[in-house]
Amino acid sequence: MKIICIGRNYPAHISELKNIIPNDIIFFLKPETSIVHKKQPFFIPDFSNNIHHEIEVVIKINKSGKHINEKFSYNYYNELTVGIDFTARDIQQQLKQDGYPWEKAKAFDGSAVIGTFINKENIADLNNLYFKLLVNSKIKQSGNTKNMIFKIDNIISYVSKYITLKKGDLIFTGTPSGVDKVNKNDILEGYIEDKQVFKIRVK
Ligand code: MG
Repeated sequence: MKIICIGRNYPAHISELKNIIPNDIIFFLKPETSIVHKKQPFFIPDFSNNIHHEIEVVIKINKSGKHINEKFSYNYYNELTVGIDFTARDIQQQLKQDGYPWEKAKAFDGSAVIGTFINKENIADLNNLYFKLLVNSKIKQSGNTKNMIFKIDNIISYVSKYITLKKGDLIFTGTPSGVDKVNKNDILEGYIEDKQVFKIRVK
């Protein structure tokens, strides 16, 4: 399986990092080894002094697809959740400045937290879905899928033009504003609407 992550999909987050709104969808990959397994903590890697949390809606692909027409994208996923796209911001800034790929900043071990999945049938409107990240019981990030520049069905169609999607693949759909540094002993909790889908400690 593979993890595909969308970059720059919420205007307020694009502004906070002083980036430009993209004309086209930006994506990058994380390997399977980036996943933090259930009940495990997140360990701050020793190569970064500035690991940021990015809470994101995560879609699980349920069957293979290539060149998926956007009007059929809805048939390619049954479940979604929220997760964290951990980012070594110091390393990413340097890589961006030098024009290099982002993997060292984005694809490292432990860089993908994935919540418990919810069936999409239990969600009233996928394009009006509220989610949030609590750090030490305080809301640090909150977002709503209505503010996505590129919507879920558009993303699935677009990515499948380049990469065949397979059952079990995950798509991180971009983070809203409020990204910030995590510190040792922080407790991070992810919510979809009022339902907690993960709780993880930083070590
Ligand atoms: Mg992200």
